[in-house]
Amino acid sequence: MHQRIYFDNAATTAVDGEVVKAMEPYFSEKYGNPSSIHSFGQEAIAAIDEAREKIATRFECGFDDIIFTGSATEANNLAIFGIAKNFRPGNSKFVPDHFITTAIEHESVLEPMRELEKVGHKITFVPADKSGFVKISDIEKSIKKNTVLVSVIYANNEIGTVQPVREIGKLIEKINIKRGEARLPKIYFHTDAVQAVNYLECRPNRLKIDLLTFSGHKIYGPKGVGCLYVKKNTPLHPIIFGGGQEFGLRPGTENVSGIVGLAEAAELAFENREKRSKYVLDLRNELWKNIVKYCETAELNGSFEGRLPNNLNVRFPGVSNETLIVALDRSGIAVSAGAACSSRASKPSHTLIATGLSAKQAKESVRITLGKNTAKKEIKIAAKIIGETIKKLETKI
Ligand code: PLP
Repeated sequence: MHQRIYFDNAATTAVDGEVVKAMEPYFSEKYGNPSSIHSFGQEAIAAIDEAREKIATRFECGFDDIIFTGSATEANNLAIFGIAKNFRPGNSKFVPDHFITTAIEHESVLEPMRELEKVGHKITFVPADKSGFVKISDIEKSIKKNTVLVSVIYANNEIGTVQPVREIGKLIEKINIKRGEARLPKIYFHTDAVQAVNYLECRPNRLKIDLLTFSGHKIYGPKGVGCLYVKKNTPLHPIIFGGGQEFGLRPGTENVSGIVGLAEAAELAFENREKRSKYVLDLRNELWKNIVKYCETAELNGSFEGRLPNNLNVRFPGVSNETLIVALDRSGIAVSAGAACSSRASKPSHTLIATGLSAKQAKESVRITLGKNTAKKEIKIAAKIIGETIKKLETKI
């Protein structure tokens, strides 16, 4: 059999060799606690400082605008609850507050929003259209006097559609000028850029963003480390408490090797963005052409234009995605049913449902995501196997 083919790069990526090399000294050689005063500690804090500086330089932002967290999930939670903590019942400045997000966010944004809803905050979930895009006019219409945060995913993790984040940023900036004149509180803008960093412009100032989340393991870096960019003067409160690490916003002894790896991976992503995008785009287009050649009934979920270059989300009518994933895995091909964290549960994808698919159609859909390590020869092999597998499964219906 051919070597296993990994088509699930939106779930996680292989750690780059250069990243591993950068991380290695921080396990058993330079293992100091960054808060310690002695030379072991100094080595560790110097590594974190260097990592922060690297990301700040690439992001064209301040050194202390970069907060390392334990994951992107944690960074999203910090952004949302950290803003919500400005508005507490009993606080004399308390005003009933309002958050805006979209129906196609990752669970690590949707669930914190639902938690806020349970304790009385008002949340608007802006819909997506059939192609998988959020309309700027829907965001604009949702803004109220007491809106405090807008959170829009940059590139969707299931169908790869890229949202008009820069335009939303500009709109909010314009609205904030008027709100300032009317003495209304500023609206903060957060984006979950986890799937975007490999392929899209992510410098926060260019996008007019106050809070931006990304993760190590989606960009050929390590798991268990994330990052939140926080623009200066954003009133963010910590959501966990302890020592004062990460400027008091994320206490806990830092994951030194992880932070070093995240920064190295981010540098490589910035440096190679165009090359990686073009490489996966050509392969992705070739794969799609071959899939439709072998399976005429295959349908693409989400727009072909305006989606991440490495993403396909395909519906094979009449074939359950669970059955297909298992059958493809037996043939050495790894694809997924959608978001990695929910793909073990057999719930239909909320993103596909939000774009108008029925639960049955959503459960006939698989996500195929290529990466920089996808080999050209894998495309033809995989398309043929997918075609043969679909034929076999169709005859079983
Ligand atoms: N946001 C998006 C868009 C994602 O795709 C993911 C991971 O699947 C996350 C957030 C969560 O990232 P992490 O695994 O670092 O918590």
